[in-house]
Parts: sequence; structure tokens; C-alpha cells
Amino acid sequence: MNIPFLDLRKVNNELAPVINLAVQKVLNSGWYILGEQGKEFESNMAADLFGEKQGYVSACNSGTDALVLSLLAADVSPGDEVITVSHTAIPTITAIVAVGAQPVFTDIDAATWVMDVSKIASAVSTRTKAIIPVHLYGNMVNIAELRNVLCGLNREDIVIIEDVAQAQGARFRGLQAGTHGHFGAFSFYPSKNIGALGDGGAVACQSRQDWERINMLRNYGQRDRYNAIVARGINSRLDEIQAAILNIKLGYLHEWNQQKARIMYLYRTELANLPVAFQQVTKDCEPAWHLCVVQLPDKQMRDALLYYLEENSIQTLVHYPIPTHLQGAFAVGQSMKLPVTEDLANRIVSLPFNIMLSEAEQWKVIESVKTFFK
Ligand SMILES: *Cc1c(COP(=O)(O)O)cnc(C)c1O
Repeated sequence: MNIPFLDLRKVNNELAPVINLAVQKVLNSGWYILGEQGKEFESNMAADLFGEKQGYVSACNSGTDALVLSLLAADVSPGDEVITVSHTAIPTITAIVAVGAQPVFTDIDAATWVMDVSKIASAVSTRTKAIIPVHLYGNMVNIAELRNVLCGLNREDIVIIEDVAQAQGARFRGLQAGTHGHFGAFSFYPSKNIGALGDGGAVACQSRQDWERINMLRNYGQRDRYNAIVARGINSRLDEIQAAILNIKLGYLHEWNQQKARIMYLYRTELANLPVAFQQVTKDCEPAWHLCVVQLPDKQMRDALLYYLEENSIQTLVHYPIPTHLQGAFAVGQSMKLPVTEDLANRIVSLPFNIMLSEAEQWKVIESVKTFFK
């Protein structure tokens, strides 16, 4: 039995008949960007996210652009600083650099593997304009606590942009990820909790004014056709075909998240007595697992497990092997020490984990990890 890390054909083939119909409908409509499908998706996603609360969604071309649009809406400009973690996917940092701002890295918590909010104070400067907490692997940053810290520093002006690319559907004290900060940035990259058949993203916000600004920024800065109101506009719109497909998938989001929660539970209980540690869930958070990442005692054992699983036809990945502050493109941080981040990157491995993983495949992963330690 060969177990790939993720077989997207399997995931999408399940829905092939409905996807085909939806694509045909767009084809026949003669309208391919910013149309009915996009509007419907935005209002469905806003209803799912915010429920009875006031809230808006603006769909765009990618998760990276969702972050860029949020930063632009917050007026983040060259010279400004944006605080975030180094232990994240590269696009979190790419987005900050794209608007001309300086990323300022802060360390993660050794147990929850997300932003250590207690260390934020030392990263805040007079130039700090925004903070991007990343809800990594499906677990959440405690945004309420982050707000408390900023309040204590008398810096409630700092804009909070949640990176929800890996946690769509997660909740903190009952409220979904992406509804706690000023903006929530979502990704519909094919492998995410709901994935397009291409690129896609969305920004969630609670103020109508912010929403209107995002809608202009994603469309060259225009308010109406041929009338630009804001200067730093870009072209980042979700096309109608992707919107139609995402509309279908949104209906499965919570069911799929629950399915993954069951697999996660099995992995966690079966591997509980081995020297592998799982990500600790943030207090009061109900995660929406995107990846199943385990931590080994050291790099040598991590590399050995990787090799062993590969030998046994189980594909694994490392999310992420090089902390972003140590990557050439963001070398600004080379002298900076982020001990928890640097240590974690050496000791983690992501196991196959997705909604199409059969019970037999789940057990093969479990038995293989157990055998490795024998
Ligand atoms: C996937 C991802 C993004 C970017 O999403 P794209 O749609 O690929 O641009 C941003 N942040 C995190 C944490 C991600 O995992």
C-alpha cells in the first residue's frame, strides 16, 4: 500500500458531477469575474463565519493577496513594521514585504506552536502598524489575550490581521477564526481546508467601511468602473468558476473538519505512549486541523522517522524545514534568535492526514510509526 501525502484527485473526484455542472453554468453565463457566483460565495461565507453578527467577506485571488489587501486596507506603508511569527508558510512574510513594510519576527509557544503572545511586548515599536497572528495547522492564537497585551501597552491602534489560511472553521470561545481581529485572511489553495481548483482567497472584516475599501483595492482601486478612489489598488479577484466550486465546498467545510478531527483523535490516542508530541490545543479553542504535525525528541530521530516512513511507502513532509527568518529572501533577521522556532523546525514531521485517507491507510501510518520505535 502506497500512501501519498495528499491525493487531490480523490478529494475532488468525489464532487466531480456537481463541479462539472457548476462550471458549465458559469461557462453559459458569459460573465467570468465579479459576478453572481462570487457574490453568492461571499455572502454564504460571511453567513457561515459571522452567523448573526455583522460581518463581510471579500473574495480575492489568493491567501497571499488576502493578507496584502488587509495590509493595504490598514494603510501599512514602507517604513512600517508588521509583527508576525517566523514559524509559518512563506506567504505570510511575502505579503508584508509586498506592501513595503518590515517583518518583525517573534517566537512561538513551545507547546501550542503558535505566536507566544507573552513575548509580543518586546517586538512592538513606535513603527509597529499591524500584527499577523497565524492560526497554524488549524490551532488558534488567543486573540483576546493579544488584545489585552496591546491594551496594556496603550497600543490598541495596532491592526490585527488573522492569517486563517490553515484554520478555516476553527473556533475560539465559540467564534470562528477570522472574526476576532480587524481582518481575517483566508486561502483556498487546493490543499487547504476548502480548496479551489486553482488559486483563491478571501478577506473577512466586521466594518462595512473596511469591506468597501477591500472591494476597491482588489479591483484597481476603483469604486465604480473607470473611477479609482484608492491609490494602491491591485488586481486580485476571485473568478466565477472558482467561486462556483468553492460555493459547493463551503457546504462541506465543517463536516470535513469533523472527519479530520476523528483521524487526529485516532493518531493522538494510538501514538500517545511514544516519544512523539502533538501540538497542544490553545485553551478555549476548537481547532480545525489542516495538518497533523508531530514533534520528535531530536533532529536525528526526526530524519530517521522520515526515512523509515518513506522506505515503507508513506509520504511525509516537513512544515516547515527552514524558519522564514533564516531564509535568504528575509535575511534581515539573520542575527535574530528565535530558539523555540529554530528548535521545532528540526524536530517536526507532517503525517499523511486528509479527508480521503482510508481507515486502512490511517492504521498503516499508525503501525509504521509504532514499529519505528520498537
Ligand atoms: C497557504 C498559506 C498562505 C497563502 O495562501 P495562498 O493562497 O497560497 O496565497 C498564507 N499563510 C499561510 C499560513 C498559509 O498556509
